[in-house]
Amino acid sequence: MENDKKLVTILVPAYNEQEVLHLLYDRLKTLMDEHSTYNFEILFVNDGSKDDTLKIMQELRKNDNRVCYLNLSRNYGKETAMIAGLDYSKGDCVIIIDADLQDPPELIPEMLKYWEEGYDDVYAKRKSRKGETFMKKFTSKMYYKTLQSVTNIEIQKDTGDFRLLDRRCVEALKSMRESERYTKGLFSFIGYNKKEIIYDRDPRAAGSTKWNYGKLINLSIDGLTSFTTAPLRWAAIFGILVSLAGFLYMLVIIFKAIFNGIDVPGYASTMVVILFLGGLQLIFLGVIGEYLGRAFYETKGRPLYFIDRYNEEKETNKDLNK
Ligand code: UDP
Ligand code: MG
Repeated sequence: MENDKKLVTILVPAYNEQEVLHLLYDRLKTLMDEHSTYNFEILFVNDGSKDDTLKIMQELRKNDNRVCYLNLSRNYGKETAMIAGLDYSKGDCVIIIDADLQDPPELIPEMLKYWEEGYDDVYAKRKSRKGETFMKKFTSKMYYKTLQSVTNIEIQKDTGDFRLLDRRCVEALKSMRESERYTKGLFSFIGYNKKEIIYDRDPRAAGSTKWNYGKLINLSIDGLTSFTTAPLRWAAIFGILVSLAGFLYMLVIIFKAIFNGIDVPGYASTMVVILFLGGLQLIFLGVIGEYLGRAFYETKGRPLYFIDRYNEEKETNKDLNK
């Protein structure tokens, strides 16, 4: 290995991806061979797969020493798999790419080109979303809109995690050890020189998506609550409005009672007010609880992940994982 060449890490988080790993490796290999001006490292992160993903990674490493793998102690989810990969990446830049070939590796040269021009974060923006349902497209659109309107930092729309990060972005991301990670927001949060490239997102090459609506809803709530306390503000403002209305209505009742005497029938209005306020209080308690829950997880300060092995060596968590 010549030392004057820059090292590019290609980071691939993978969970049950046995069907696609060989395909992915072949495409990456072609690319690496064509770009001999760089040294490459493919870093697979096995996120507790239950199939033969790990075995395939080990096999690939045997034949090609540019391949490294990190085996996590269980399934932690993609967000955590990514930070684990960043922690173990050695490259001068890191390219994060999905294992399922939805992110075409052929875009990497373009990313590298912009990196050489001085951009720190070259991200791929989806033009089309072939093979995704209307509902998924629609919900994702609405979600970006809401998120954007409540956060001060710019969140990139239609952008996944497929991107090239300069070493200093990687270090910035590594320094943020929050346990409920919302990486998409973190990419925006760190700033630096960003460059967008547009591409067609392909359908999954094989295997099946690990996402479902439950996970998506969770990620959405995490996204909101990890970046803004706006929902607390909404709750407060709404609470003020409702109590103002309640106060006015109280005046009305008092004056009515003074001038017209006590009027007993009032069951319906009482019930309406009790139910409405009760419901409201429960919702806002929930909102507060969301934030309290986050604070709870963060204060525990647990390591984000545990590692089973890095390449051939059995690992225990080192200082990396503060
Ligand atoms: N992934 C992971 N851990 C998980 C779920 C997914 O590392 O718990 C990886 C997965 O192997 C893939 C990437 O994250 O490389 C994106 O997952 P997927 O294709 O299922 O998501 P989608 O493209 O449908 O959003
Ligand atoms: Mg996918």
